[in-house]
Amino acid sequence: MTRIYVDMDDVLCQFSKAYQRSKVANSDLEYPQSIEGFFLALEPMPNGIDVVNRFRSEFDVYILTAPSTRNPHSYTEKRLWIEKYFDYDFTKRLILSPNKALLKGDYLIDDYDKGKGQDKFEGILIHFGTPEFPDWQAVEQYFQAQYLKG
Ligand SMILES: [Mg+2]
Repeated sequence: MTRIYVDMDDVLCQFSKAYQRSKVANSDLEYPQSIEGFFLALEPMPNGIDVVNRFRSEFDVYILTAPSTRNPHSYTEKRLWIEKYFDYDFTKRLILSPNKALLKGDYLIDDYDKGKGQDKFEGILIHFGTPEFPDWQAVEQYFQAQYLKG
C-alpha cells in the first residue's frame, strides 16, 4: 500500500500565522512558539483535515512532524491536536522525528524541502505551498491523477 507522510506545521496546521501573532504579543520572548498551549491552539489549514481523512481510506497515511525542541509541550500538544481535529485512532500514526529521512515510504507532503531530512527522504517530496502544490486541493488532485484514474 502506498505510504504517505504528512507534515504538521504549515501543512496541516497554521504555524506561521500563529508564530507571527505570538511574536507581537510576546515581544520579550526569543522563542514565541515556546508558550504552553501554542501548538494545541493552532488552526487547521483549509481543507487539510478533509483531504487527509479521504487519503486514510486509500493510502497508508502517517503524520510526520519534527518536534519543536524549544517547546517541550509541543511533543504532547501535537498528539492532542491530532485527536482534536481527527480522532484517537489517528494518534497511533503520529511520528515525531527530527530527521524525516529515517522513515521509509513513498511520499512526504512537507512545506520545507530541507532542514529536517526532507532532501534525503527516499520517496517523492510533495512540496506544499509551492506553485505546483499551493494548497490541499492541488495535492488531492495530484493523488487522484496518480492512483484513482478510473
Ligand atoms: Mg512544516
